[in-house]
Amino acid sequence: MQEFSTRCVHAGTISDKENKGVSSPIYPSTSYAFIDRDDTVYPRYMNTPNASAVATKIAALEETEKALVLSSGMAAISTTILALLSSGDHIVFQQGLYGGTSNFVFSELQRLGIKFTVAKGHSVNEIMQAANKDTKMVYIETPSNPLLNVTDIKAVADAAKSSGIISVIDNTFASPVNQQPAKLGIDLVIHSATKYICGHSDICAGAVAGNPDLIEKIHKTGLNLGGSLNAITLYLIERSLKTLDVRVQRINNNARSIAEFLAMHPKVKKVNYPGLPEHPEHHIARKQMKGFGGMLSFELKEQESISFQKKLKLITPSMSLGGVETIVSSPAHTSHRHLGIEGRKKEGISEELIRMSVGIESFQDLIVELDEALN
Ligand SMILES: *Cc1c(COP(=O)(O)O)cnc(C)c1O
Repeated sequence: MQEFSTRCVHAGTISDKENKGVSSPIYPSTSYAFIDRDDTVYPRYMNTPNASAVATKIAALEETEKALVLSSGMAAISTTILALLSSGDHIVFQQGLYGGTSNFVFSELQRLGIKFTVAKGHSVNEIMQAANKDTKMVYIETPSNPLLNVTDIKAVADAAKSSGIISVIDNTFASPVNQQPAKLGIDLVIHSATKYICGHSDICAGAVAGNPDLIEKIHKTGLNLGGSLNAITLYLIERSLKTLDVRVQRINNNARSIAEFLAMHPKVKKVNYPGLPEHPEHHIARKQMKGFGGMLSFELKEQESISFQKKLKLITPSMSLGGVETIVSSPAHTSHRHLGIEGRKKEGISEELIRMSVGIESFQDLIVELDEALN
């Protein structure tokens, strides 16, 4: 197999037989011939040439046999869960889920009779203790949002496998550059491709990669739910993935420098970054991650989070993550607002917590700005 960065550039590329261009042609047709061929090609079937090209590339990067590309991370998550679970089945979620996932669980699963338990924490023991005889799936997210907790992926995959349970991970925060969960035994790897995979804060997409039998089931349900993408967006995802390795390597280095800077800063109470030796699960992160990613969070000591963010210029206070530009947000005012002060306290989310998605700018410029805003 070729090296990761080579696969980023070349895997799945559609050969342009007519003009010999080096990039994949874009096929915008929604109508395809049916005579003398055994498959039916249609955009919603997620099997047009550009959809297959991106799916092939993502499967190559996650080192799985198959992948499917969908219209958002939530389309990937909901289609996966609805394809594989029925009324009466039970699913275990780790604590500290992405907000959209948790909304989906609480507002849709209950109504459909799919039973669920949110584990008491994110450790393998807490997750597996929540399983029962009806459990068909365990679902983890590591590193998690916004505290960057780390779960032992291989331990969860092994425990699930020995009980005949499907294991699923949301691998958005790490990206396949830093973490390839299928190699550790996870059955299905989900991405919000809106984040690092697309990487320029201008595309919404999702993906699921893994075991071919499971992907086929998800694909069948996907045709019914209809979360497909158009050719132009698919081409842009393919284009974005060519630079995934260089972007994320740079982001890893920047984030580590910024985490180290913040950890030493007198106006910062605490830094959450899996790459810091003082992170409680650093030993697990070292085992399963090649780099520690671009997401970190930190607690301010003396300043209110909104007034700190208002002082930033280059770094924009805004939602989402995974782009080339550095952004910050305060979970108490955005993703975890609905929990209220008491709910946030229970999850360990301080009112003065700042979450940061580190970009590819020069880290020196970012550090100068952070230092000014902190003082
Ligand atoms: C953004 C995000 C999602 C949802 O993805 P969309 O593309 O917004 O639907 C799921 N999981 C994580 C960890 C995310 O950051």
